[in-house]
Amino acid sequence: MNTPKRYLITSALPYANGPKHIGHLAGAYLPADIYVRYLRAQKKDVVYVCGSDEHGAAITIQAMKENSTPLAIVDKYHAMLKSNMADLGISFDIYHRTSSPIHHETAQEFFTALNDKGELEKKETEQYYDEDAKTFLADRYIIGTCPVCANENAYGDQCEKCGTSLSPEQLLNPRSTLSGNAPVKKATTHWYLPLNKHEDFLRKWILEDHAADWKANVVGQCKGWIEAGLQPRAVTRDLDWGVAVPGAPGKVLYVWFDAPIGYISATKQWALDNDKDWRPYWEDKDTKLVHFIGKDNIVFHCIIFPVMLKLHGNILPDNVPSNEFMNLEGDKMSTSRGWSIEMDDYINDFVKKENGGDMMVDALRYYLTAIAPETKDSEFTWKGFQDALNSELVAVFGNFVNRTFVLMHKLCKGKVPPLHVELLDNTDKQLLEEIQLTKIKIQNSIESYKFRDGLSEVIDLARKGNKYMQEKEPWIVAKQTGEDGQPTAAAQQKIDNCLHICLQLTANLAIYINPFLPFTAKKMIYMMKVVDKMLDWDNAGKSKLLSTGYSLRAPELLFRKLEDAEITAQIEKLKTKSSTLKKATSMETTTDTNNQSTNQPVKKSTIEFDDFAKIDLKVGTITAAEKVEKADKLLKLEVDLGFEKRIIVSGIALHFEPAAIIGKQVVVVANLAPRKMRGIESNGMILMAEDASGKLKFVSPGEAVDNGSAVS
Ligand SMILES: [Zn+2]
Repeated sequence: MNTPKRYLITSALPYANGPKHIGHLAGAYLPADIYVRYLRAQKKDVVYVCGSDEHGAAITIQAMKENSTPLAIVDKYHAMLKSNMADLGISFDIYHRTSSPIHHETAQEFFTALNDKGELEKKETEQYYDEDAKTFLADRYIIGTCPVCANENAYGDQCEKCGTSLSPEQLLNPRSTLSGNAPVKKATTHWYLPLNKHEDFLRKWILEDHAADWKANVVGQCKGWIEAGLQPRAVTRDLDWGVAVPGAPGKVLYVWFDAPIGYISATKQWALDNDKDWRPYWEDKDTKLVHFIGKDNIVFHCIIFPVMLKLHGNILPDNVPSNEFMNLEGDKMSTSRGWSIEMDDYINDFVKKENGGDMMVDALRYYLTAIAPETKDSEFTWKGFQDALNSELVAVFGNFVNRTFVLMHKLCKGKVPPLHVELLDNTDKQLLEEIQLTKIKIQNSIESYKFRDGLSEVIDLARKGNKYMQEKEPWIVAKQTGEDGQPTAAAQQKIDNCLHICLQLTANLAIYINPFLPFTAKKMIYMMKVVDKMLDWDNAGKSKLLSTGYSLRAPELLFRKLEDAEITAQIEKLKTKSSTLKKATSMETTTDTNNQSTNQPVKKSTIEFDDFAKIDLKVGTITAAEKVEKADKLLKLEVDLGFEKRIIVSGIALHFEPAAIIGKQVVVVANLAPRKMRGIESNGMILMAEDASGKLKFVSPGEAVDNGSAVS
């Protein structure tokens, strides 16, 4: 695109059903914030919008779980997310919410416009209905056994254990989370967005026009979706929480449809608040629209929302620099499993507890950017965080700035010394040149969304500063003294040149680090006694930012080290949190033996003796056991039930070595309908007990009995 007249930057709307973790921060918020701060330093016309996504069945489910109302839930988490983001320096121009009236109006207008143009299709379908609760069931309200990994608490839209996208029809033994009963099929009418009609447009727009400038992982995922063939997608659903569908009582817009429109309504609210016109940001082709998201959002921002925008007459995104996922200490980050570092927890542990917590905000921003999952999944470890902070921020960047200030106070009376141009040698000139070159390198990196590279250029420049100082050794030069005990004139000139250059470099480092670590830049501005305007990108690369003779403040600590005890405490905290959650989960869900991934409440209703009597429990002996290929949790077992031998697939592979359980007597649900797992038919289920730490034990008779003995 030609030079844009204005920029509209969005970060994925976080879902207001709970706290969000630092993987989210690294994926969609921090990179956008760096980009926006860079554009602002360039004096561009830029608006950065975001807000809480407050609709959808997961909110109503969270409300049930907390014995609360949807509104109370979104109020609570909206406030938390808004303040977390502000504490971490994410500089939205507006952090809005989709429960606001202006959003409801905007989303309804959008739906009506598309419907009036004939771009939506109305269809009657059969959907799951809970006869006890007298309501249609959103996908999330239906749970059942995952056909891929046999997790018994997979949701109707996704199995959180193995990550497979599902439809409720694919679940084995579906049941309603409202009543616990099996749902029935009932007819209902909905509007659909016929994505299949827009395949040609998407193919050209993404796979041709943006093949080169979008990230390979984004184009690759889109290609997969398009090649698989796009289907009409329901725009509406039967639910009572959301944006009401005009003229269709009892129906709301599907949350995937209303949420991205939240970017538009947020822009409208921002314009109202600031006396601006929102339209050019969404309608003028000279606007550069960039969506920052995580990879789970690619289909919505690259396929579905662009189709909606095109049909509605809006501009399309120029880029969607999606990140991959950030793992944590060897496992996938997950709030529901307790394996995560919530933004809120980090803020409480590191930012609010101590004076100067801002430096720990920048420390986190530093590490998350340095290991950003820009092209592939990456991993956060507390040890890695400690190393990055101690050996890069403290030892390289902080050390350079601190040394420069200390020596300037000691050897130059606290003032910017003069530069003796005639004495500049090659080492001096090289460093001055590096200061300029770094500007171009950082620009290129940020403008191509390679924030890791940009940040490492800043650290490299500080490293060059340290090397330069080490070569020049002004503290040694200062020992060449005259009769008065002061450095000789020649020595002082050398000292002057070295520290003059180091101070100009420090000023440049402040400009360069500002988009990444804004609190550090601010502190440096204060130490140099200059105005914020010095951070304008125009000033980057200049070697005369600080005037000769200007007196500067004493150095301040920019970063502190992270101690071993702190990281040990955090790792302990992580382990405790995940095992406590697991315990709570297993108490809620009872029968499932491999339920680490969900904290879905399943209330089982009272049953009659006859119901219990339907279960045929038999004692058997495991006679063979082997791992199931490509399923790290499954074991294929052969169990001797006396009257016959059975093949049973069980999700216990993480707990037992196959060889160690052969000969074990177990209790089997012998009349469970057969089901296929990974292509193997499983005939029955082995009963397991799970202790508080998630360890599994076989349920078996206290003493050996004949195989085939009944359990009752
Ligand atoms: Zn699964």
